[in-house]
Amino acid sequence: MARIEQTLSIIKPDGVEKNVIGDVLSRFEAAGLRVAAIKMVHMTPEQAGGFYIVHKERPFYGELMEYMSSGPVVVLVLEGNDAISRNRDIMGATNPKEAAPGTIRADHAESIERNIVHGSDSPESAVVEIPYFFDDEEIF
Ligand code: ADP
Ligand code: MG
Repeated sequence: MARIEQTLSIIKPDGVEKNVIGDVLSRFEAAGLRVAAIKMVHMTPEQAGGFYIVHKERPFYGELMEYMSSGPVVVLVLEGNDAISRNRDIMGATNPKEAAPGTIRADHAESIERNIVHGSDSPESAVVEIPYFFDDEEIF
């Protein structure tokens, strides 16, 4: 059964730099996801590291902190039926070489690291990730 969910989405520094904010937002809206919150943030490496704390033991963690703090990002709360898995479908696989045709990562990402977008991977992640960036009164 479909559930109304909220998920945390990020248009990463490479997406902002490539000037595809509008294209990415259009794909969410066309798929029935609604923007419930939106802002631009330029994270410090420490903020980026805190956001990705679940990956702290991975070999790419340092580079990930550096990349995610290399420029401004757009952070979003998306809302809609099955928003968490729907957003992941629109994004495509982490590695753009494995991403399905027509997904954001297949169309725009240049590598497994610089892959344009983030999306919460589960309801448990979404409830931690949304308040990392947004207070309740910033979500509409
Ligand atoms: P996803 O963003 O699809 O949920 P992960 O949670 O596994 O993927 O990884 C978080 C982010 O870390 C990825 O989106 C990507 O930017 C980076 N990353 C993942 N795997 C690698 C890797 N093998 N090498 C470099 N960066 C990676
Ligand atoms: Mg993830």
